[in-house]
Amino acid sequence: MSKIVVIPGDGIGKEITESAVEVLKTVDKKLNLDLEYEFHDAGGTAYDKFGVPLPDETLEACKKADAVLFGAVGGNKWDNVKAELRPERAILGLRKGLGLYANLRPVKVVDSLVGNSPLKPELVKGVDLVIVRELVGGIYFGDRCESEIKDGAERAWDLENYSVPEIERITKLAFETAKIRRGKLTSVDKANVLATSRLWRRTVTKIAENFNDVELNHLYVDNCAMQLCVNPKQFDVIVTGNLFGDILSDEAAVIGGSIGLMPSASIGELTSLYEPIHGSAPDIAGKGIANPMGTILSAAMLLRYSLHAEEAAKAIESAIDQTLADGFRTADIYSDGFKKIGTEQATQEICSRI
Ligand code: NAD
Repeated sequence: MSKIVVIPGDGIGKEITESAVEVLKTVDKKLNLDLEYEFHDAGGTAYDKFGVPLPDETLEACKKADAVLFGAVGGNKWDNVKAELRPERAILGLRKGLGLYANLRPVKVVDSLVGNSPLKPELVKGVDLVIVRELVGGIYFGDRCESEIKDGAERAWDLENYSVPEIERITKLAFETAKIRRGKLTSVDKANVLATSRLWRRTVTKIAENFNDVELNHLYVDNCAMQLCVNPKQFDVIVTGNLFGDILSDEAAVIGGSIGLMPSASIGELTSLYEPIHGSAPDIAGKGIANPMGTILSAAMLLRYSLHAEEAAKAIESAIDQTLADGFRTADIYSDGFKKIGTEQATQEICSRI
């Protein structure tokens, strides 16, 4: 038996996690995965009930689970809540509490959605890449100074700081990810300027000695940002630090054409967490029109990475490809000539193709 903790959260979180659980139940029935679900609160919903965005009970349940499926948190209703109790704090609490050290964001452009990308069809057709971002180190977690006077001028500073074990851990995960894909890894840094990047490059190069079956290349971050626009098909797996990964993963996400389609995995030492990259979309919450595909694809990643159920993950991914190929579109990706569907019908169409 594998236990999945489901955290719907706020806004469209409830609708899209409900949809993903239904798809998981369908694939479970087919392939006997023996999945169990436990639902817990986080975000504004938890704040309303318990006065905190991440109750201890939720975190403890996540620690004991085999994997966590997360919807989204946040909304205007909690705009005036104190900063440390805001719904979004639940995400930071989970990252810290579960030691989620790596964020994986796949960008796969399905043929039937090539026209939705802001890039030219011939550039995006066939794009299939994963960005592996270090999530708990680097400049976001270094010392900082908000304001000091030096040489008569006010200044502020943030410290970028990486240790060899931190770089080794994320690099090994990236090599393992490349190994089960097309065997190509691009490490991104700014080694022509930054000392942390030079340590990063040295460490990645050393780890590569243990992965002869993966081809490694290095790119400077500015060049990588450009290459993602001019030739995104060249990439298989990209590994990078926290700051560069934050920026590059958002840039890469738009290649796919809709935020509603993009899944992610945050890998932890014990439990990993899977969630769509979008937020709680308060503007469409409760209307039954949210695209559940990003969350369903996150559930497929959960099966692949936490439960090693590759066949089940593939079954979900191809059911989504087929639903799109058959012309069904939620409002966010709809255009003339296609069949417009809501969250519930999208779920049914996907389930019926598993
Ligand atoms: P958002 O991602 O929620 O929405 C941006 C736009 O994309 C909106 O127009 C929304 O309707 C649309 N959209 C998003 N997901 C969609 C889906 N599945 N189907 C169809 N359309 C979709 O970003 P935002 O509006 O900047 O933030 C709303 C709230 O979500 C804020 O409180 C923010 O802090 C929070 N947020 C949470 C997370 C998270 O929980 N991981 C991430 C980002 C933002």
